[in-house]
Amino acid sequence: MPLASYASDPAVSRGRRYAEPPAPTRDDYQRDRDRIVHSTAFRRLVYKTQVFLNHEGDLFRTRLTHSIEVAQLARSIARALQLNEDLTEAIALAHDLGHTPFGHAGQDALNECLHRIDPQGPGFEHNLQSLRVVDRLEQRYASFDGLNLSFETREGILKHCSRRNAQALELQEPSGVGRRFLDGTQPSLEAQLCNLADEIAYNAHDVDDGVRSGLITIEQIEEVPLFAAQLDSVRREHPGLEGRKLLFETLRRLLSAQVYDVIEATRAALCEHRVQRAADVWVAPPLVRFTPAMREQSLALKRFLFARLYRHPQVEDTTQRAQGVVRDLFEAYVADTAGLPALTIDGADPFRAVADYVAGMTDRFALREHHRLTGRTVFESHGQAV
Ligand code: MG
Repeated sequence: MPLASYASDPAVSRGRRYAEPPAPTRDDYQRDRDRIVHSTAFRRLVYKTQVFLNHEGDLFRTRLTHSIEVAQLARSIARALQLNEDLTEAIALAHDLGHTPFGHAGQDALNECLHRIDPQGPGFEHNLQSLRVVDRLEQRYASFDGLNLSFETREGILKHCSRRNAQALELQEPSGVGRRFLDGTQPSLEAQLCNLADEIAYNAHDVDDGVRSGLITIEQIEEVPLFAAQLDSVRREHPGLEGRKLLFETLRRLLSAQVYDVIEATRAALCEHRVQRAADVWVAPPLVRFTPAMREQSLALKRFLFARLYRHPQVEDTTQRAQGVVRDLFEAYVADTAGLPALTIDGADPFRAVADYVAGMTDRFALREHHRLTGRTVFESHGQAV
């Protein structure tokens, strides 16, 4: 299917930071996607978690399976809207590369550690770190640090950025990926799409993982209208269906309903704002969107997950312990930077080098290092220390 006139076109890409000859058989966005898949940071996502830690069970989402689910949803919507699927996939697969071990718990702890040392500094923010991974920390190419990705892929990876961090980026790279946060403009439709696909993916899979863990039940989620409507339709068509099949059939429909809603609402927004070219997207309001009714329903699901899952005492207990691990690691390495692998030492800022090192860890490597450095066991799994 041909690309829409407002899709991102690699032929008019704003290019890479270091000029490279074109690849013989792939365009720049295909090449970006391939570079991401081959990166070390991408492989680490398999042992990084979001809500449930690896040792709690083999079937919970990890950052890797989450990223693949985001890519699937985003590509499916991109194809329907005739957007650039390769750029969409590249952004989706890279969007969580900067996450610390233990999900948001790890990020918050690392942010606190850095702010204690430098209250005015940028702290730690996973979107900025994802950019740092692809721009600097990956060490795979002879001629440059990082993966040297195209501007549009990097722009999509940096989905949020504070004004202060955007100003710092602007100093390093004038009119670069920080600029839009100062100008108040929007990124490409492919970047906007990955943002929304991320939300659709984690809302659905956190329901699945929440039920699997036993921390929430199908009966509780029935208080969420979006879920209840799909559950009702499944029960009407398949009376007597229960257990996993009932849950999965409901979640499948919940995903489809949101995907079709985004496609319809986005088509209407593109029409309403008379978008013709990719450049029109930058100055329009965000165009990849839910209908107002679906936005409200999605928010209600999010509120439910916050109250019943992310704030569940068992999840909060895990969060606290995980934050303790990250803090202990940070302090131990700051006290003895000689123990760090040479590559991670950033001569200008040893604290940032420690943050990069800790952020890059998988959950299980962090726990092993923590045990080696402190002799303590933080989590038990089936009676075994992990
Ligand atoms: Mg994500």
